[in-house]
Amino acid sequence: MANQEDLLKKIISHAKEYGFVFQSSEIYDGLSAVYDYAQNGSELKKNIRDYWWKAMVQMHNNIVGIDSAIFMHPKVWKASGHVDAFNDPMIDNKDSKKRYRADVLVEDFMAKIEGKIDKEVAKAKKRFGDSFDEQQFRETNPRVLANIEKIEGIKNRLYPAMDNDDMEGIKNLIEDLGIACPISGSKNWTEVRQFNLMFSTQMGSTAEGASEIYLRPETAQGIFVNYLNVQKTGRMKIPFGIAQTGKAFRNEIVARQFIFRMREFEQMEMQFFVRPGEEMKWFEYWKETRMKWHTSMGIPAEKFRFHDHDKLAHYANAAADIEFEFPMGFKELEGIHSRTDFDLSAHEELSGKKLRYHDPEINESYVPYVVETSIGLDRMFLAVLSFAYTEEKLEDGNERVVMKLPHVLAPYKVAVFPLVKKDGLPEKADEILNGLKSDYMCFYEEKDSIGKRYRRHDALGTPYCVTVDHQTLEDNTVTIRERDSMTQERVSIEDISGIIAGRLRG
Ligand code: ATP
Repeated sequence: MANQEDLLKKIISHAKEYGFVFQSSEIYDGLSAVYDYAQNGSELKKNIRDYWWKAMVQMHNNIVGIDSAIFMHPKVWKASGHVDAFNDPMIDNKDSKKRYRADVLVEDFMAKIEGKIDKEVAKAKKRFGDSFDEQQFRETNPRVLANIEKIEGIKNRLYPAMDNDDMEGIKNLIEDLGIACPISGSKNWTEVRQFNLMFSTQMGSTAEGASEIYLRPETAQGIFVNYLNVQKTGRMKIPFGIAQTGKAFRNEIVARQFIFRMREFEQMEMQFFVRPGEEMKWFEYWKETRMKWHTSMGIPAEKFRFHDHDKLAHYANAAADIEFEFPMGFKELEGIHSRTDFDLSAHEELSGKKLRYHDPEINESYVPYVVETSIGLDRMFLAVLSFAYTEEKLEDGNERVVMKLPHVLAPYKVAVFPLVKKDGLPEKADEILNGLKSDYMCFYEEKDSIGKRYRRHDALGTPYCVTVDHQTLEDNTVTIRERDSMTQERVSIEDISGIIAGRLRG
């Protein structure tokens, strides 16, 4: 665990040192859980967003994208249930003065028991070797069974308490389980209280005439309230989807772990409108399709797993997360939810406007059901950094840090270096750069030794470095170096573009 925590620390300092992510307002000591994307980070972030947009919008004839406003009519959040139910239960430890999400304390406790089960299984696997039947072991081993029963017992208390806003029930559960504060080690807890996660502000020029509005806590509602406009003007036929990327805001009780949980973050969401009764088919379709997207970049499949929800949100009839193995363990990266007709029906009721779709194929009007895919762009960014960050010992005894970013996501696709700052080499390098920069993000660098320049671009994740030397002036060839293998090849200038493009086609 210590190593993994170290890894997160290393990623955070690498992200700062190499211009990926800065703390917001750093000169004023920062603002908690708010971050700025720096010159290289904003490129990486844009590339992740574009990769998503391409897969969701460009590659699907029946999905279109919109860009709705952050501010929305306050009634939107009443209808969606956020005003009344977008709460997290919080609890403070009186000794450490630290605040926690009460349900997360209990969930972490359950995760520890899961960890014990996994250890038991791993031990048995080692002992029995090839003849080991994991399923049978899980179903019969008394220690495993006892722990599963323990988890079930906890779930049976936590989820009903959450559903019924039973704060006392959650507090009792924390006490009965003997959960201690990880900082102070004490069990001296306050009562559990509900806390609404929406930020509000005033709209209007004077305080008296002002009305309270919210910063959107999710982008989805901007799609729901526009669905019929898009359907009509885009002549969309069910099933169809609407995609959107944009900022969302949540006043998270415990914001930590870098850009994993922020108060201002970006979502990439797609709401898919389907015939009632067909939602489970689409739910499965989108689970599979989204998992394929994640592995299509070359991140190994073992880094991802599904987690089906036992406890469903008030609007859902099925939900699953795609979890990624972050340095802090497997955590939610994306949610796939079957939201039924909850949102559209609620908006129909509160607005008094019909939000029905007339289905010409069955000659019926209905409120469509919705299957959504919702991923945090910042979390995906952290997933990509965690996967890419690699420390390597080289054959010559040196070490390097290389960001093995999928090529399609790398901030720069190629860096061009003149070997020396004279003899017409910078001019030649500039000429090569000018030939490439309308197609690819390129970087020009002439400072320091070539070795140092390579290291710097390893750290930025630049897949190719091109070095211009005296021979270039004679025969128009350059050395191209590949980031991961560090192999160097002499190629003709006109082949550079093809080499880069070859690795970008997914
Ligand atoms: P969590 O359980 O981690 O709070 P959630 O279930 O509330 O997340 P959703 O409402 O399903 O999250 O939001 C969809 C996605 O938005 C999440 O899978 C996550 O990637 C991202 N997301 C949610 N909250 C945050 C946040 N505070 N900071 C960064 N990303 C977030």
